[in-house]
Amino acid sequence: MLQDQMLLRIPGPSPIPPSVQRAMSRPMIGHRGQETSNMLKNIAPGLQRIFGTTQDVVILTGSGTAGLEAAVVNIVKPGDEVLVIVTGAFGERFSKICEAYNITVQSLNVEWGEALNPLEIKHYLQEHPEIKAVFSTYCETSTGVLNPIKELAQAVREVSDALIVVDGVSCVGGVETRMDDWGIDVLVTGSQKAFMLPAGLAFIAASERAWTIIENNPQPRYYMDLVRYRDNLLKDTTPFTPALSLLFGLEQVLQLVDQEGVEQVNARHILMMNMTRAAFRALGIPLLTSDKDASPTVSAVKPEDFDAEAFRKVIKHEFGLIVAGGQQHLSGKIFRIGHMGYCSPADVLQTISAMEIGLLKVGKEIELGKGTAAAQQVYLNEGVLV
Ligand SMILES: *Cc1c(COP(=O)(O)O)cnc(C)c1O
Repeated sequence: MLQDQMLLRIPGPSPIPPSVQRAMSRPMIGHRGQETSNMLKNIAPGLQRIFGTTQDVVILTGSGTAGLEAAVVNIVKPGDEVLVIVTGAFGERFSKICEAYNITVQSLNVEWGEALNPLEIKHYLQEHPEIKAVFSTYCETSTGVLNPIKELAQAVREVSDALIVVDGVSCVGGVETRMDDWGIDVLVTGSQKAFMLPAGLAFIAASERAWTIIENNPQPRYYMDLVRYRDNLLKDTTPFTPALSLLFGLEQVLQLVDQEGVEQVNARHILMMNMTRAAFRALGIPLLTSDKDASPTVSAVKPEDFDAEAFRKVIKHEFGLIVAGGQQHLSGKIFRIGHMGYCSPADVLQTISAMEIGLLKVGKEIELGKGTAAAQQVYLNEGVLV
């Protein structure tokens, strides 16, 4: 297998566009110079557009989890009670971070593969006025669920002043996100998923009322102090040396997104989801999530009569096609296909048609081409890309 022909279809890290790869190889510059300031100035509106906010989007050097931890240390303090909505592995991560900082966590557990129910959260908050913040996951990467964040934020605001904190790491940049309109207070994402970059940047924005809480929060923090980042951003600079090569890449990513248009980018992700789901449905292989709860960025498939791990091994060996396995109790029970960022409907067709061969090779009886044809049909019916 040609090494450069690897087909990386996991839900992050995701492939990187060649022009972004080239941008990242630019010679190093000084981080206190005018070039860096110009770059930061250039980057800001694109990030705001993707977040759907007029607030500053702060850039941290670190993986997505650094952004999640920054959210926790900036908005709550030991003794505060928070609600963490756990719909999978990444909801659990928020709980663990909060617990590490002695925040009192109340968890609302949703069955893996299902979306959170805003009404249930609303009722919970009515009975628990002590809750200071509600932590949720937009796309739960471990199950391929896209949680109804708009409805959640609305439900929370109807009954509570709790801040609404959203982990959007595996979907912001690929799905509709309207932080301001929906009333999200803190939104976090990272660089290696829908943002088409390597891991290493976390993006975080806060609402007006969240900033007030952040500014007055006595919780100790230094590198993660968002106030420091915002104050510097106002002067088009950063408190510490930023990951400049990743910023070169980010500048190019935002240009690509701008050329395609944020709405078209989101439409492409929905199309890729629909193609993928139609293929498995046509092949008679169950999907983990319902259509209503499915994420445009990652699809989880739940085989009934073949081994998910053997299947992953075969497609990797035959085609260099890499999909993700399940996490925790879903390990060995599902596989997850990433279709986000630098991924096109043509890539989805390639992935499905290669997977059909893999299915035959692990002994799953299918009619060759049936999944691909279903995906092609979805493209013909819905494909609106120009
Ligand atoms: C990938 C991911 C993260 C961040 O993980 P890192 O490995 O720290 O980048 C957080 N939340 C979700 C939902 C993710 O998919």
